[in-house]
Amino acid sequence: MFKKILVANRGEIALRIQRACRELGIKAVMVYSEADREAKYVKLAEEAVCIGPAASSLSYLNMPAIISAAEVTDAEAIHPGYGFLSENADFAERVEKSGFQFIGPTPDSIRIMGDKVSAKQAMIKAGVPCVPGSEGELPDDPVVIRRTAKSIGYPVIIKAAGGGGGRGMRVVHTEAALINAVQMTKAEAGAAFGNPAVYMEKYLQNPRHIEIQILADKHRNAVYLGERDCSMQRRHQKVVEEAPAPGIPRKLIDKIGERCVAACKKINYRGAGTFEFLYENGEFYFIEMNTRVQVEHPVTEWVTGIDIVKTQIMVAAGEKLPFIQRQITVRGHAIECRVNAEDPFKFTPSPGRITTWHAPGGPGIRVDSHVYNNYFVPPNYDSMIGKIIAHGDTREQAIARMRTALSETVVEGISTNIDLHREIMRDAKFVNGGTNIHYLEEWLRHRKT
Ligand code: ADP
Repeated sequence: MFKKILVANRGEIALRIQRACRELGIKAVMVYSEADREAKYVKLAEEAVCIGPAASSLSYLNMPAIISAAEVTDAEAIHPGYGFLSENADFAERVEKSGFQFIGPTPDSIRIMGDKVSAKQAMIKAGVPCVPGSEGELPDDPVVIRRTAKSIGYPVIIKAAGGGGGRGMRVVHTEAALINAVQMTKAEAGAAFGNPAVYMEKYLQNPRHIEIQILADKHRNAVYLGERDCSMQRRHQKVVEEAPAPGIPRKLIDKIGERCVAACKKINYRGAGTFEFLYENGEFYFIEMNTRVQVEHPVTEWVTGIDIVKTQIMVAAGEKLPFIQRQITVRGHAIECRVNAEDPFKFTPSPGRITTWHAPGGPGIRVDSHVYNNYFVPPNYDSMIGKIIAHGDTREQAIARMRTALSETVVEGISTNIDLHREIMRDAKFVNGGTNIHYLEEWLRHRKT
């Protein structure tokens, strides 16, 4: 096992990885930008290295600074968390060439899955069902583009091959709007992701977002840890996640889970990963794979009892998965609310000093957050300041516990979306379960203020 790991991230996930290291008896070296000097995990760290100014491009995305930090502290491995460099194949390659273990899949796997066009092609080959769409990247020829859309059937969605974080997508309802939409998405994708390639998919009207968590080791063992339902989204970004997905027959989940495991073995995948699907009328359609730990991993940890972050570290060190598929069971129900520093209904970011922070507690409540009383939320990064996770024997109990937790939570000094979560947990359709990916936005549009 490693003796020392460098954590190349910030915020709640940096703290989460630090905790996993402590449990495993591994020293965690924390890195931080000048804006994160006061972060909780930096204060708790045995060793911490400043890697640059507040701007991510000069700190958390600065590969030489991160690799030097690992060198000067004698770390053996680097955990990239999520976001930032976690899905950057060049970074993974540089980490390994510098003699460190990258805690994640091989650079090749990241490269294939990081490009959504090549990811879909790999999945089709591995027998995973995909959303009907163009065969690979769209060419420039308008005649071919029109023909492709016609054969798929409107509405279609134009998506950037290198897209992420819910950006780089455009829905097209009519042929008249098609060519312009393709050109705009291409231009945006080139500017935002450095890759102008786009592809086309059938735009599914009422799907749910269902994803399968997998874990694989370096000895060709792989398992799936059930599913998560992440349909409560705003601007293609997840707001509430839960496990298991309400109302989907276990048999269907097992079938798609087995397909994912088979695909992992076929592409020689290692580490943690998530296969994301849209689910409509009893069918799953692959949209993309995330080759890293995800924000919503705690709901799966709670219903399976498996520590995903610890397992990531163990398999990166070469250990075998300590369980087989048969031993993995789902118990009870878990729900996660992402707590963001933003206006709960207008969504404008609200960085600044937190004057009061009272986190909830009690049976079935877990809070993953790096903030504390008098902590300053820097304006430079993502607005998520933590996650509240509730578990219960049933979904009803998990919701009841989440309501209590939200009613106990006090955050003063900045705005948060806690009020939004309070309303969602009382919404009859959410409580009923099985809402689709458009539900939250429709609900927000019709919400009486
Ligand atoms: P990202 O990498 O930016 O997260 P994804 O491909 O995972 O992009 O898509 C994010 C979200 O966008 C999905 O959860 C879904 O809400 C919506 N979406 C993507 N593709 C489609 C599609 N073909 N039909 C309908 N909605 C889609």
